Amino acid sequence: MTDSTRLRIAVQKKGRLSDESLKLLKAIGVKLSIRDRLLIAHSTNLPIDLLLVRDDDIPGLVMDGIADLGFIGENELEEKMLERQAANEPAEYQLLKRLEYGGCRLSIAVPNEFDYKGLESFEGKRIATTYPQLLKRYLQENNVNASPVMLTGSVEVAPRAGIADAICDLVSTGATLEANGLYEAIEIFQSKAVLIQKDGALEENKQELVDTLLPRINGVMQAKE
Ligand code: ATP
Ligand code: ZN
Repeated sequence: MTDSTRLRIAVQKKGRLSDESLKLLKAIGVKLSIRDRLLIAHSTNLPIDLLLVRDDDIPGLVMDGIADLGFIGENELEEKMLERQAANEPAEYQLLKRLEYGGCRLSIAVPNEFDYKGLESFEGKRIATTYPQLLKRYLQENNVNASPVMLTGSVEVAPRAGIADAICDLVSTGATLEANGLYEAIEIFQSKAVLIQKDGALEENKQELVDTLLPRINGVMQAKE
């Protein structure tokens, strides 16, 4: 059973944001008992429940008010917000804190043999991506007529498979691009992990808890500097 008096925090279950998010919760004094394969984990010392989900689901859970807080990458957050705005669905949230982990960039990359000469090189091209909204916004802002091709995975093989001329994907070191015969042409979005809260007021006891946790996050981040 879920208890609505407990602060509900959405965290990526498994992936690039999980370890750091859980480490941060631990560092601010939230003790957790996490059992494999369960969607929900309870804090043993504070009225907090964790929802352990795919990162793609976190913005929506917060925007729908199902989770009170969420740890999420700005790339995923912004993509979901644009998608919901386009569909006239609730897309509100409050940004509590920009965090120091999960850094990456969303870039357009092209095959080594692609003759990239600036944005006009993408005119009329197909660009495979998991972030069609962020890509569309960038193309519109820069007056480029290119078509996003939505793929949820294996984006980096799309040019070789003849599905697209270029890709728009997350990059940190560039090793994956290189391994697939691609190079980074242009960065379109920079991202880090953020802590967000649902829109509107929290119940009083939850707000008090958030008010004690936030300064601790600031403390942990300052200690790292
Ligand atoms: P899930 O199964 O939860 O959907 P996923 O495969 O979508 O996982 P991960 O690869 O774990 O996601 O990445 C989660 C987030 O981590 C990204 O959306 C991004 O904000 C951040 N991130 C940081 N560095 C990288 C990187 N090098 N490549 C991809 N994502 C990165
Ligand atoms: Zn995901």
